[in-house]
Amino acid sequence: MPIIAAVALALPASLFTSPQAPDVPTIAEGDPIPAWLTHASPARLTDAVERLVGFGTRHTLSETESDTHGIGAARRWLRLELETIAAETGGRLEVKEQRFHTTVRGKNAELVNVYGFLPGRVNDPLGRTYVISGHYDSRASKSLDALSPAPGANDDASGTAVVLEVARLLSAGEFEANLVFLLVPGEEQGLFGSKHFANEAEELGIDVEGMITNDIVGGTEGGNGVRDEITIRCYSASDDEGKSRALARAIASSAERYVPDAKVKLVFRSDRFGRGGDHQSFHKKGFPAARLTEANEHYGRQHQDVRVEDGIAYGDLAEHVSGDYMAKVARVNAAAVAEMALAPPPPTRVSMRAAVSYDTQLGWAPSIPRPPGQSRDESKPTHSYEIVWRDTTAPLWTGSQAVPAVIRVQPARDRRPERQVVQGTIEGVTADTHFFGVRAVSALGHRSRVSLPSRP
Ligand SMILES: [Zn+2]
Repeated sequence: MPIIAAVALALPASLFTSPQAPDVPTIAEGDPIPAWLTHASPARLTDAVERLVGFGTRHTLSETESDTHGIGAARRWLRLELETIAAETGGRLEVKEQRFHTTVRGKNAELVNVYGFLPGRVNDPLGRTYVISGHYDSRASKSLDALSPAPGANDDASGTAVVLEVARLLSAGEFEANLVFLLVPGEEQGLFGSKHFANEAEELGIDVEGMITNDIVGGTEGGNGVRDEITIRCYSASDDEGKSRALARAIASSAERYVPDAKVKLVFRSDRFGRGGDHQSFHKKGFPAARLTEANEHYGRQHQDVRVEDGIAYGDLAEHVSGDYMAKVARVNAAAVAEMALAPPPPTRVSMRAAVSYDTQLGWAPSIPRPPGQSRDESKPTHSYEIVWRDTTAPLWTGSQAVPAVIRVQPARDRRPERQVVQGTIEGVTADTHFFGVRAVSALGHRSRVSLPSRP
């Protein structure tokens, strides 16, 4: 028998999953996510974009006194929308604001982040938290022009509308982790709103386990004439094996499982070339963060005064955003964040023993530690783990194997305290040619982000 066949016989069956969908399990009976996603409404998304465009400009330095015009009117409307969603979804969504003063290119301004906070079963505002964001400010051709019309339908009324819609889809649900539906200003002049939220999260010690920003998520036709109503690009910062990249892979995998009519295209780059977004404020603080954006942008409609010049129409108008596409983006957000927030926390303290071996052993701290004093018999795990691996040049995980949540206790030794640890071994797959990671899985099959060993 050739050696290759002998090796293949010893490998787990899951190594041979189909190459098109290597990492996508079926949906379990009783999983609430599919029912939540069916409520995404293209008409409601389009209405929200038109409403935001109707404020004329949402420039960060525009007027705040009027109830019909400028950024003040826009943010008061957003607050009312979140309050309506809270009332319609059982009243657990808490509507909050962060007010702060800053200098925007030499001009003093009061900026206001508006957000909904949905407490999770962790019952701790500093506990594991997922943030879904969009920026509600807009701009015209000149960055500091606070007077000209700046409809900002796609950039970023579309992302703002998506955040409201995801809040509607999920706020009646009960999650392990907290959810934050965040709407920020000041993106166009320097990511001011997102920086403030990320700074405060760091100072307070909030465990932000994932942040997704939605920015320019409404157009299906690029300036190059290419139409694409299916693909959503997902950008994640470029440190290859970091948490933001792991978050991006988790988003793509959730979308493939729950939103089969969308395709998340992973881009292994922090953002589009020479440009940025609010996810970077979080990534810089060490929080896993990624950006969703449409497949083909129309550069002639972004950051442009509304006008016709040489027969060409410029401007970011509501007629160019698609309700169906925004609904797809909302479902991708909701699926990813719901799956992660229903899953146990990602494993921590992941280590790997694999040198000079044909097998690879991983060990990690349990996502749900056994309470002190509880004997082994009493601990009935309601979750499990999956060790995943891929070829070092493969973009996605190509193999996975379930590992039961059997907790071993490592006794105290050499001034190190007693530790709980879970272990699993993948036979016949060597770390000499593969990367490995591990994720926690709920009883209904919801998967955490993959955690990587300190030396992947
Ligand atoms: Zn934007």
